[in-house]
Amino acid sequence: MTLLPRPSRVLPLAALRPGPLADRYGRVKRKLRVSLTDRCNFRCPYCMPEHPHFLPRSALLTRAELRRLLRLFVGELGIARLRLTGGEPLLRRDLEQVLEDCAALRAVGLERISLTTNGALLAPRAARLKAAGLDDLNVSLDALDPQTFARLSGGREVQPVLEGIAQARAVGLPVKLNAVIVRGVNEDEILPLTRYALAQQLPLRFIEFMPLDGRGAWSRDKVVGEAEILARLRQEFGVRELPRGGDPAAYFALTSRAGQTEIGVIATVTNPFCASCDRLRLTADGALYPCLFSERGVNLRDPLRAGADDRTLAALIRDGVWHKDAGFVAHPGYTRRPIAMNALGG
Ligand code: SAM
Ligand code: SF4
Repeated sequence: MTLLPRPSRVLPLAALRPGPLADRYGRVKRKLRVSLTDRCNFRCPYCMPEHPHFLPRSALLTRAELRRLLRLFVGELGIARLRLTGGEPLLRRDLEQVLEDCAALRAVGLERISLTTNGALLAPRAARLKAAGLDDLNVSLDALDPQTFARLSGGREVQPVLEGIAQARAVGLPVKLNAVIVRGVNEDEILPLTRYALAQQLPLRFIEFMPLDGRGAWSRDKVVGEAEILARLRQEFGVRELPRGGDPAAYFALTSRAGQTEIGVIATVTNPFCASCDRLRLTADGALYPCLFSERGVNLRDPLRAGADDRTLAALIRDGVWHKDAGFVAHPGYTRRPIAMNALGG
């Protein structure tokens, strides 16, 4: 684990000056994840509460409000990459219009527009998403076995997701796969998912189960850690670690008689990457969460609706980012807060 430097003692006023959007540990922010809705057509037990209470529609940021905030984040505050997520972002009917608004921000420095989806509703919309400006997609795929998939999605089918992946690729959208591994549920899927990724030549990343589920069911023993994931892969593949880049995932080259591929492991629990974190999160109701493990967010929606100007909003954002916590390294257990992953935007 990389240690963070001691936080700067400089007063937050310094954080309000123009310049890179940075926290008190000197970590500059370049990526923003935007949750477009807390609603979802899946009920993944590692994410959703058993009986979710969704936000009323009036609480969600409208397209116009999103456009205003995203212009500020990109044009004024140096965010270069946007990832639209949720909940399930494909449940948002104006997703294509939101993408068009994002695409307009390329003129003020936006480099990439990505989307994270469960993929079930992707196939019929893939071409429109691409036409609206989407650059690439992450699709969550935790299992290929139908029963295990149903267990991890709240009774859904895997086939529409596979069709969504195929259709996205057919229209020219690069796809990456993400799989959360939960002990006793899908560790037996590590090898089948890797074989599938190799056969399809799709990048795949395994994600450790994080203590952020809405059901409070996480425990350390349910985490299948990086070392164990690699041990399973070694049963079938030669595994060689690749030099670490700025990505939260560590990457490994895999070789077997069937061919070669690369997989990533996002080891938030056993090997946190907090020291180099360059991300922020905006919830569907307009709260800025500087960290996945932040206990509370900075409410941007209410000042926005009350008529705050860009300078005021930028100051709120800079101040919130400045106070970003050290991350999982500082809170290596449950994060108690009123919202779950589906609302925060994983
Ligand atoms: N619905 C979309 C999806 O599933 O891809 C986007 C939202 S989902 C909250 C984003 C990502 O968070 C998914 O890859 C999901 O697997 C991951 N996730 C949710 N809860 C998690 C947890 N407790 N630990 C690790 N990853 C989690
Ligand atoms: Fe929905 Fe994604 Fe959460 Fe699963 S992980 S319940 S698909 S938001």
